[in-house]
Amino acid sequence: MPADMDFIRIKNFIDGEWVEEKEVEYVPLFNPSTGATIGEVPLSKPETSTAAVASAAAAFNGWRSTSVGKRMSYLYDIRQAMIENTEELAVSIAVDQAKHISEARGEVQRVIQIIESANCIPALMQGETLDNIAGNINGRVIKEPLGVFGGVAPFNFPALVFGWFIPYAIGTGNTFVFKPSTQSPYFMQKMGDIFNQVKLPKGVVNIIHGNRTVVQPWYEDPNVSGICLVGSTPTAKKMAEAAGRGGKRSMLLGGAKNFLVAMEDLEWDLFLENFLHSCYGSAGQRCLAGSIVAAVPEIHDELVERIKAVSNEVKFGSALDPDVYMGPVISAEAKDKIENYIEIGVNEGANLIMDGRNPELPEDIKEGYYVAPTIFTGVTPEMTIYKEEIFGPVVSVVKVGCINTALDLIRKQKFGNGACLFTRNLGYTEHFIKEANVGMVGINVGIPAPHPYLPFGGIKDSHLGTNKVQGKDGIDFFTQNKIATIRYSPPGVDTNVGAKDGAIRSCVAS
Ligand code: NAD
Repeated sequence: MPADMDFIRIKNFIDGEWVEEKEVEYVPLFNPSTGATIGEVPLSKPETSTAAVASAAAAFNGWRSTSVGKRMSYLYDIRQAMIENTEELAVSIAVDQAKHISEARGEVQRVIQIIESANCIPALMQGETLDNIAGNINGRVIKEPLGVFGGVAPFNFPALVFGWFIPYAIGTGNTFVFKPSTQSPYFMQKMGDIFNQVKLPKGVVNIIHGNRTVVQPWYEDPNVSGICLVGSTPTAKKMAEAAGRGGKRSMLLGGAKNFLVAMEDLEWDLFLENFLHSCYGSAGQRCLAGSIVAAVPEIHDELVERIKAVSNEVKFGSALDPDVYMGPVISAEAKDKIENYIEIGVNEGANLIMDGRNPELPEDIKEGYYVAPTIFTGVTPEMTIYKEEIFGPVVSVVKVGCINTALDLIRKQKFGNGACLFTRNLGYTEHFIKEANVGMVGINVGIPAPHPYLPFGGIKDSHLGTNKVQGKDGIDFFTQNKIATIRYSPPGVDTNVGAKDGAIRSCVAS
């Protein structure tokens, strides 16, 4: 924690007010770079979450009646405030999530871009009309908001997941209750202040903190129309089931295990730079992080030597140190879990050529949750480290006979988030794009994250529910189609219903 930062006592944001949760357990908030306790987070009561939903429900009618142009101008004001406060927001991410400060700035920048993209809502939310279905009859499809949405975020993208859910949800006229991870709640404390600064109407966005129990009331609450999550696959499956039982629409992004496929004609410098960024950025805690490197025989041995050499150069340390490449992992438990996977890899016969367990820490660091780059070779599809999401800086190298063997492995993986190919060959490129059984494909990029104009999301166990986030998919998820059939009076009939029209207007207004 920067020396001048106060102890952080996380509060809920309900109906535009900061509310301190009373008579509940608070869990410590850590700075993973140092292991120090820097604050505390309430495990809020389910009733608090119900109160947040009630606030969002009360705000819904006024908000959906606010013109779409005005809603966009609120989004633009939020964007402007984020631009002006980028450094403070980035530090808030670097402090509790321990994302390296340069990546944290990038995450804030990406959210700003998402908000800019969400300003296409007035164009993409337009409905359709079919004239003259029969004599004097028209059909109209109207895209309208549904009501209140609840959203749950993982620890690793406290800002990005806000960006995936909230601009599209409220831009289309819904209201929202957001639950950040208890491990990285600080960014949303900053955002609550921004909502008030831009005078976002009370209740349009509420923020509650806690664990899974605080989300529980949403499934049965008639005021909640839909639920979204970004998190691990087991959490996504539990929420998909509960949302289904409660009749809520859901959009649930789960875990991942992503391939980087290296062909014999790759450009080495480009590959190595992307390898580092993909496998060790955010200490490997990204849903699109490279985890399995599949290399063809022609380059396999050279690739192993080269990735070992560049991995050796990775400097790790505090997330706030501009000179380091990689920060710590999120918690002591995460460090134990990753180290346990390394042990399993060794026991199951993989060849550990670089061991990141208990690394020698930089001089200025006494504690903190550090795992250094780790590389296994000789990994096979039967091994646990091949099959399960490790979520740390651990790379498994597999030798594949050709591009089709790699594609076959990708097809058989239960996860289907991303896969990247490194080649200069157009034939390989098109074949890979067509055949890779994942949601997001990259060619000569290590992180195949689509630009905010486009949808983002995986397939198979990496994605449950309907729709992906961002772009047209985001708009479809947060709107429903209403279809109107309108019979107009035939020519010659008096349609001047002035008095009645006035009566209707006053009825609607009340
Ligand atoms: P997690 O599943 O442990 O927790 C995610 C969130 O869900 C937290 O806020 C947690 O409090 C809440 N939660 C946990 N159990 C719940 C339940 N039963 N009901 C409701 N809420 C519950 O995940 P994490 O460790 O915070 O995040 C890492 C995971 O997220 C990884 O698996 C990663 O791949 C995944 N992730 C996926 C994407 C993607 O785009 N697919 C993006 C980022 C992270």
